[in-house]
Amino acid sequence: MPRTYVIAGTASGIAAATARTLRERGETVIGIDIHDADIVADLSTKQGRLDAADQAIEMAGGKVDAAIACAGLAHPIAKTVSVNYFGMTEWLEALAPTLAKSEAPRAAAISSMASLMPNDKALVEAMCVDDDEAKALARAQELVDIGGGMEQLIYGSTKRAISRWVRRQCVKDQWAGNCIPLNAVGPGIVRTPMTADMIATEEARAGLDAQVPMPCNYYLEPEQVGYLLIWLASIENTHTTGQTIYIDGGSDAVLRGENIWGD
Ligand code: NAD
Repeated sequence: MPRTYVIAGTASGIAAATARTLRERGETVIGIDIHDADIVADLSTKQGRLDAADQAIEMAGGKVDAAIACAGLAHPIAKTVSVNYFGMTEWLEALAPTLAKSEAPRAAAISSMASLMPNDKALVEAMCVDDDEAKALARAQELVDIGGGMEQLIYGSTKRAISRWVRRQCVKDQWAGNCIPLNAVGPGIVRTPMTADMIATEEARAGLDAQVPMPCNYYLEPEQVGYLLIWLASIENTHTTGQTIYIDGGSDAVLRGENIWGD
């Protein structure tokens, strides 16, 4: 019996590859994106998120087994906060009551190796502690206005916030109480349109490789991230929850070293 997966971001990159693999395996996929998708919606707006969830539930005939939140922007602009954090969390929350009716519901979101990079604490907390989009947008715009590289903290801040959100939410009634494992993946560099310019030249690659060293198998193809998302969203995953699983060719181990337990 095929499972029904709702995936955000399917017009391109990791989500497109994930949707393709699932369809090849005979599963049912409903794709959402701002263009070229089963459901066209702008996840940077509250209304867009809620409409996208409602339409997906309707298209699925009321039965959604898994939701994978994989849309995103890498631009150092305030809107990145709305897509990468609120576009994922509010959209997943809107789907949660329907997921809860599945026999084996699962949810997964996309974080990044960037969740381990420098971030702006005020921005991170406006997202995952205050849950205040207006406040987060204002702080992100402040970082843009200050400039001088501060705007580069926005992307990593959205990824730190989503990893914290997953840990915070996974044990709550809405998720654990309904037997829904909720996780994130944290990819290193993946060959998608998002990174095409960043890895286009040898010089650019050298700079990036110093920041995100990937000694095991180097850059990822989007399908390879998809396999992990698919496992997290599969019936085989019953107890892994609240995690950000780094799929990064060893970056985390290189950068944070052996002892991450703080004692
Ligand atoms: P991509 O640019 O190929 O795909 C992103 C998709 O998100 C696009 O189809 C885009 O249209 C969609 N999107 C953007 N804004 C939207 C909006 N307002 N409403 C609906 N859809 C919207 O990028 P990708 O590399 O596949 O990235 C997917 C996710 O993976 C992002 O969250 C990104 O931060 C994360 N990620 C990527 C990498 C990488 O190296 N590529 C590494 C770590 C994490």
